[in-house]
Amino acid sequence: MPDVPLAMGPDDAAEFFYEKGVVLARDGEEARLVEDAVRGYFTQAVGLTADHVRRDSPEINRSGITRIRVGDPGHGDHRGDRAVTHTLRALREYEGRVGRRLVSRNHVVSLAVGSRSGDEPVPVPLASDTNPAPTEAGYDPDTAVNVLVVDNGLTYDYPLAPLLDHVQGDLHLTETDSRGNLLQYVGHGTFIAGILAAVAPNTNITVRNTLNDAGAILESDFGDSLFEAVERDGWPDIINLSAGTVTGRTDGLLGIGAFMEVLRAQNTLLIAAAGDHASATPFWPAAYASMPGYEDVVLSVGALRADGEYGACFTNHGDWVNAYAPGERLTSTLIGFATPVPYLYQHSSYEACRFGFRYACTCQSPRRTGVLSTAGTSTAEKATQVLFNGYAHWSGTSFATPVAAGLVAAYMAATKEGDPRATRRSILAAHTAFAEVRGAHVPALRPPTWRPTPATAVT
Ligand SMILES: [Zn+2]
Repeated sequence: MPDVPLAMGPDDAAEFFYEKGVVLARDGEEARLVEDAVRGYFTQAVGLTADHVRRDSPEINRSGITRIRVGDPGHGDHRGDRAVTHTLRALREYEGRVGRRLVSRNHVVSLAVGSRSGDEPVPVPLASDTNPAPTEAGYDPDTAVNVLVVDNGLTYDYPLAPLLDHVQGDLHLTETDSRGNLLQYVGHGTFIAGILAAVAPNTNITVRNTLNDAGAILESDFGDSLFEAVERDGWPDIINLSAGTVTGRTDGLLGIGAFMEVLRAQNTLLIAAAGDHASATPFWPAAYASMPGYEDVVLSVGALRADGEYGACFTNHGDWVNAYAPGERLTSTLIGFATPVPYLYQHSSYEACRFGFRYACTCQSPRRTGVLSTAGTSTAEKATQVLFNGYAHWSGTSFATPVAAGLVAAYMAATKEGDPRATRRSILAAHTAFAEVRGAHVPALRPPTWRPTPATAVT
């Protein structure tokens, strides 16, 4: 998590995290207007002190976003921030009049591997096949599709996995703690690269550690980091983004507004995870897929469970999710290809599905005891430790996303179609496969080399 005081929102529903004491506004006139409105509201309406309401010293950023300090981040606890809540309230009436948003919380954008306790990887022997398995098609540098994975980096020994021959990018800065245990979320980018390479071998895959080892970034930094990632090697055909945040709103993410406008004028397709809150609340940036002007620009992807017939318990859903791909217990590359790497589970498994489903989902199995779940309790049970030796199972819309991205890339390579947005339209128009998610029939993207596992009922 970013190194600033954070609170949960909205109103302790814990759907997202945001920076305490700070809001975001667009540079210039709007930021001045927000600052003045907040001062007036604080002193006249709610009796809060307005002494420390001020814009951060203006800095030039591509995203055109200013941070406005509205409160003391040390006040209160992680359950909320009064100054931020009052700021949003202060501007609400004015925003209604002008018909657009002027101010936003500074959300934490993070990897889509579960909500309150992320799903954690499970070791799989290196002698196994990946799932999806590698497609038998050659790599051709002249026609390879360029895929940029905006994520948390690659593990140091990834070049030892032959599957990842055409993968390059940033390594993690820190992979293990002082005792040699793998840190939580490390390997996320490597796992995604493995799925992409298996489904679409004719690709150049670049993994950037834009989201840092912990897989999280503040919205105020996210826009500029996205510009930096895409411009480093030129705009790619496809961006795979297995991260985002809920905002409780339906009008996008203020911090990446400028990036999304520039993206719209390019030919790049953004394929984004729908998020893992088991919720219909829009998750951004995936939900841009249903915003006017962005229908062709974004493909939003939810997760199917291991049988491929129904939605995974955790997947977000709703009209703003374009398609669903397998995202439960996929097998892909992680770490430990030569020397095994230990890992201590952070969260214990649940007695029953935390979202109320009745099949043996990843909430419940495999059984494990986590460091964080037992911290401060009298439980003498030790956290479950495992060794990673190359491959792992892992679950999340994070991983359904590269399955879909791989299918788009494979289609482009096979048909010599140079336009990823036209490919998106073709794939969604031509698809004949459906799955059932929360009673709705939804487009299902299942790669030919992916093997389903029948779902078992909880006993
Ligand atoms: Zn579950």
